[in-house]
Amino acid sequence: MRLLVIGAGPAGTRCAVRLAERLPASAVTLAGAEAALPYDRVALSKLLAGDATMEGLITHPLALLRGLGIVYRPATPIAAIDRAASEAVTTRGERLGYDRLVLATGSSAIRLPLPGAALPGVVLYRDMDDVRAMLRAAAGGGAAVVIGGGLLGLEAAVGLAARGMKVTVVHAVGWPMERQLDPAAGALLTRRLGLRGIHFAMPASTVGIEGDTRATGVRLSDGRVVPASLVVMAVGIRPSVALAREAGLPVGRAITVDDAMRTADPAIHAIGECAEHQGRCIGLVAPALEQAEIAARAIAGVACAWAPRAESAALKVSGTAVWSAGDIATAGDDCIVLRDDAEERYRRLSLRDGRLVGAVLYGDTADAGFYLDLITSRRSVAGFRSVLPFGPAFVREAA
Ligand SMILES: Cc1cc2nc3c(=O)[nH]c(=O)nc-3n(C[C@H](O)[C@H](O)[C@H](O)COP(=O)(O)OP(=O)(O)OC[C@H]3O[C@@H](n4cnc5c(N)ncnc54)[C@H](O)[C@@H]3O)c2cc1C
Repeated sequence: MRLLVIGAGPAGTRCAVRLAERLPASAVTLAGAEAALPYDRVALSKLLAGDATMEGLITHPLALLRGLGIVYRPATPIAAIDRAASEAVTTRGERLGYDRLVLATGSSAIRLPLPGAALPGVVLYRDMDDVRAMLRAAAGGGAAVVIGGGLLGLEAAVGLAARGMKVTVVHAVGWPMERQLDPAAGALLTRRLGLRGIHFAMPASTVGIEGDTRATGVRLSDGRVVPASLVVMAVGIRPSVALAREAGLPVGRAITVDDAMRTADPAIHAIGECAEHQGRCIGLVAPALEQAEIAARAIAGVACAWAPRAESAALKVSGTAVWSAGDIATAGDDCIVLRDDAEERYRRLSLRDGRLVGAVLYGDTADAGFYLDLITSRRSVAGFRSVLPFGPAFVREAA
């Protein structure tokens, strides 16, 4: 079989590897738009902060891919899929035939349609080229504004501050990471990052980027202008679905797939951030890798189904432990809060019908796995509720 994977991010690369292992007699091609070898996108923040090198981020050296029999085609953006001919067409007009095709095109970062958004000095945060642009800008020192105080925006802010820039985060909500943290944990995080020299403007909205030939600042809706020679937009992602849509495949927010990650065309699968399963899109690497495994199994003829699990996210900033999982902000949930101001430790557990549905851990995240297991298993916590916030050692004693 000719197996073609489009997109050499974590999902596409994992799928290509598994296909080569499961179907060694097949010809596996991995075509990616980026020029780099497959790398750890999640670790880009370490690269920005100076805690990793570009070479250190490479997950699949060429020798490894070749050893598996995978033909790797970097810098090969696919422009179209010709389903009638079972071929993908590159932007250079080359045609790559397939018997099975896997779309793993991921997402692209959103550029806010603001006046000045296209000025030099305004960058997104998604790939190695974006980090290179930030590092070049940071080398000159000066001030940076990060628009968006979500997980990515904060990691960008910390990285740029570590590189010596004066950083302001502009965020639309009153506390950072509002999708993962409640206001109390958000306030602790704001204070901690403030001690590292990061300023916050929130709630605040950006109305434009100032500058004639390059960015010089960010104008807020209250009229303030925050000076900046570098503006990083970290305001969200959009699944890359153009190829699938133009090929006539059903697309909602992302490419519609069944439990085996198969699109409406039985010869085409979609995995990772470009796929939509049961009306939901993912934005994290762990489920993207699980979907890659499922697609490879399905293509090899093994019956399988992807079952989504509770999502968890951690802020990857050294010296600041922040983790959250599940549903943390539903009104009416029963909450248990444990708070130690002197030690800067905070835990908020959300319960529904006697089961843990969400958790926020700040300051000490050692018990994250324990709470994630409870959320995923939907096990009743009624028998040990009084000791639940103290972690697994106390729960075991109570059981
Ligand atoms: C800075 C940063 C930090 C992150 N931190 C975390 C974290 O801590 N935890 C976590 O779970 N997740 C994190 N994420 C998100 C995580 O990286 C993504 O969930 C994951 O990369 C999704 O994998 P994917 O393979 O589906 O898509 P992607 O990683 O987006 O890969 C898709 C690839 O397809 C290529 N492509 C697109 N269109 C085409 C085309 N037409 N032809 C050829 N190639 C194409 C793209 O260039 C890209 O290389 C982070 C993301 C960033 C940017």
